[in-house]
Amino acid sequence: MTDDVAQFDALIVGAGFAGIYALHRLRKMGLEVCTVEAGADVGGTWYWNRYPGARCDTESMQYSYSFSEEIQQEWEWTELYAAQPEILSYIKFVADRLELRQHITFNTRVDALNWDDDASLWTATFSDGRKVRARYCIMATGCLSVAKEPDISGLEDYKGRLLKTSDWPAEEPDFLDERVGLIGTGSSGIQTSTTIAPGCGNLTVFQRTPNYSVPANNRPMSAHYVESWKSNYPERRAALRQSRNYTLYNNPGMRSGQELTECQQKALLEAEWQIGGIGFIYTFNDTTKDREVNTAVADFVRRKIRETVEDPQTAEVLSPGDYPIGAKRICVDTGYYEIFNRDNVDLVDIRADPVETATANGLKLKSGQEIELDTMILATGYDAMTGALNRIDISGREGRTLSQEWDAGPQTYLGLMVAGFPNMFLVTGPGSPSVLSNMVPSIEEHVEWITDTIGDLHDRNESELEPVRAAQQDWMAEVDAVSRKSLMREAASWYMGANVDGKAQVFMPYAGGSVTYAQILDQRTSDGMQGFVYR
Ligand code: NAP
Repeated sequence: MTDDVAQFDALIVGAGFAGIYALHRLRKMGLEVCTVEAGADVGGTWYWNRYPGARCDTESMQYSYSFSEEIQQEWEWTELYAAQPEILSYIKFVADRLELRQHITFNTRVDALNWDDDASLWTATFSDGRKVRARYCIMATGCLSVAKEPDISGLEDYKGRLLKTSDWPAEEPDFLDERVGLIGTGSSGIQTSTTIAPGCGNLTVFQRTPNYSVPANNRPMSAHYVESWKSNYPERRAALRQSRNYTLYNNPGMRSGQELTECQQKALLEAEWQIGGIGFIYTFNDTTKDREVNTAVADFVRRKIRETVEDPQTAEVLSPGDYPIGAKRICVDTGYYEIFNRDNVDLVDIRADPVETATANGLKLKSGQEIELDTMILATGYDAMTGALNRIDISGREGRTLSQEWDAGPQTYLGLMVAGFPNMFLVTGPGSPSVLSNMVPSIEEHVEWITDTIGDLHDRNESELEPVRAAQQDWMAEVDAVSRKSLMREAASWYMGANVDGKAQVFMPYAGGSVTYAQILDQRTSDGMQGFVYR
């Protein structure tokens, strides 16, 4: 190259959990790395998702890096389920501890990535116009990092305050004496409404599809519990890597609901409900496979809603009825259903009476009713798994763009690479267990595979690696076939791309379990990188 564009061995896009671990690994290997992050600091999804009540639904001791014994011993988690500020502090702590921050370019986006076939290099164009070249690109862009465009007409006419859970103001807004409306009842909406309800003049929750939510039973961790992890980390982390979704639950989900009587099922569900958390869905190992078992679990939650919510009509509206439990990610809450017993909280069923338009003063429903709002909060979800990649203008071999290649749904080999896009690696991409698993160990698994593979390419003196198209097609057929064995396809969920208008509807994550996936990945890697081609 004769121009003065800086050249690196690797470009990492994103400085969340995935990006900072990739940066650490590649620097240790002695590579020249450029890391670019849109936010003003590290954290990725946990940097932006600072809405009230934002909290992880995976236990803190498990939703954390395992690669450094020093880090896992030094860091002190306080609660069973960490809140966003604590997770963000943890990521900052890791970045500082590993002296990574000075190697990251903040407040900068990667707008375009173009592959140069002759030079076997990627050229990246940044939002500030700068360009860099790199042999490898690591897309650590997150699975739930690009908010879905709000599809509510008339929003531009609304004169009140408009807030989004995906881009919450750094300074905490005050809702006292305000009429607040919140649209969306996924995890973000449930956490936000539960947290702000006591401090609002009035809160109206606009619900289109009710969600199944289980109590978190969150609490400070006892010193004894923390110690039990800290003195057994290697064993616990190894056990976690042998568990279906890289998560250890109180109940390992070994029992088939089908083999139990109704009475036994109820007793086990009650026990799991009292323990709380996502483990509830794994009370039985066939909840998302067997329709009868699924109905029993869903009925149990519906009964809990009726027992909690005083007004029977409100309880009815809050009860999901038309899709299997687990087909959308269940929510984990701290008193969500209880807020509907407050005098200052209303529920509006916008499935029955849809929002027609936003107006200058609030929202107008199809029936003609207008609800005036001082603040409107959108918790309307994400362009999941593909959104962050598709919004970068990525062109690979022969100028073919990733968004064209993925027009009918994402195509990857093992969720890690894409045919026609050499040396571009995805962390927890579509076609891997990803969002169906505990993200941090899945991120570690992918980052370790990617960085080992890059090391191997260097050792072999090979300049390119990409998947064979036929192997990619076979893998996507496998991802599809596995999803068809489950009831998880039976909801208009973001797993299916169904929440975004015009998005191809395919089940995006690999639903065969993290352990099976890891075995396939290991076997294909050790068997001469089966399904990949070097150039
Ligand atoms: P989500 O689950 O996709 O929920 C979006 C909500 O907005 C749904 O209730 C949806 O209704 C509603 N909605 C969207 N567009 C609408 C419109 N035009 N009019 C009315 N309602 C509309 O999004 P999310 O709550 O941000 O959660 C996404 C994922 O992020 C979660 O499933 C979870 O994996 C992750 N997350 C995790 C945590 C945690 O760890 N605790 C917290 C937050 C998020 P419909 O269902 O009818 O489309």
